[in-house]
Amino acid sequence: MAELQSSNSTAAQALSEAARVNLLDFDLEGLTAFCEQLGEKRFRATQLFRWIHQKGAADFGQMSDLARSLRDKLATRAEVRGLKITSEQASADGTIKWLFDVGNGDAVEAVFIPEADRGTLCVSSQAGCAVGCRFCSTGHQGFSRNLSTGEILAQLWFAEHHLRERLKLQPGERAIDNVVMMGMGEPLQNYGALVPALRVMLDDHGYGLSRRRVTVSTSGVVPMMDRLRVDCPVALAVSLHAPEDGLRDQLVPLNRKYPLAELMAACGRYLEAAPRDFITFEYCMLDGANDSPEQARQLVRLVTGRAGTPAVPCKLNLIPFNPFPASGLLRSPKERVDAFAKVLMDAGIVTTVRRTRGDDIAAACGQLAGEVQDRTRVTQRLTRPAIRIAPAPVQQEGDRLHGRRAG
Ligand code: SF4
Repeated sequence: MAELQSSNSTAAQALSEAARVNLLDFDLEGLTAFCEQLGEKRFRATQLFRWIHQKGAADFGQMSDLARSLRDKLATRAEVRGLKITSEQASADGTIKWLFDVGNGDAVEAVFIPEADRGTLCVSSQAGCAVGCRFCSTGHQGFSRNLSTGEILAQLWFAEHHLRERLKLQPGERAIDNVVMMGMGEPLQNYGALVPALRVMLDDHGYGLSRRRVTVSTSGVVPMMDRLRVDCPVALAVSLHAPEDGLRDQLVPLNRKYPLAELMAACGRYLEAAPRDFITFEYCMLDGANDSPEQARQLVRLVTGRAGTPAVPCKLNLIPFNPFPASGLLRSPKERVDAFAKVLMDAGIVTTVRRTRGDDIAAACGQLAGEVQDRTRVTQRLTRPAIRIAPAPVQQEGDRLHGRRAG
């Protein structure tokens, strides 16, 4: 009987949650439309938006400059619904990772990375990921579902206001001034939820972040890169990981749909509207797979336009791989990374080797792996016998044209 009552009350709670509108799902325009539906003036939406995002308020009773009648209406029809926190882990280097329960057995992760001059939050956009990159823990878990705008924003909303208290920040100081959409998921495969979330991050009545300080990372969903350029141009990072199509087809399967020539052309178009005058290319260093000096030279040819694709002003970010058994891949030794970086830098390309952060709590790049009910065949595909990653062909000077596909 007790069990029955408990399941009834859980069901009742779920019903009441479903019936209420989650105000974290709205950008300011959406919240304005919602307030107008309630018969309220537009400026009320701005007040409400500021309470939620700037002050971290979830209790309408606290929102003292809102009319009592509006607070009463909101109490019956709306709520500010954050995510349940399943766990928190803090690294020796100050990195903090939170695991958020998003229901039905799915959980996603967000990571706070403090640095001397800024605080960065790495945010998830999907429970799992359908792209299935070979070197990525999330990719190996498969895909469950897209997060809603509210679930994307709830990670920032919680982290910002929790950290303000925890770090005892003064009024007006903020904990997070940099957001990277580099957590679990391919953000551009959840475009409809992503864009309103980005707008809230940028909105002066919301988090007021600069466009240069909000980065969307993509494995190369070309049509959505073109849409983002028009709808909400923020900084762009592209997961490249290979200098030619044959290898990239194996490491980043989306490449079979949008090969490098199309991707580089889309990067060029994106730069016409981007807040920065370069694209960041991420390149995960995989021992014996993509880290030879010849592959570094191929990469130079690719980004400088000598491979027959458009030149793309860029920064190269070399990422130490965090190995996990299912990948069948290993981290490149430091001397190989250094030699690879030298080829790029000698060619005048700004190159950084990413310092790993939070790897004692599995919060480093590529290690995020919440809990995902795989509803796709990604897991199945990736657990087939390991692919052979053939070394890149050594090209003769006369061959180095037109980015021909090797696979
Ligand atoms: S690297 Fe990004 S796009 Fe590739 S599987 Fe992982 S989360 Fe998905």
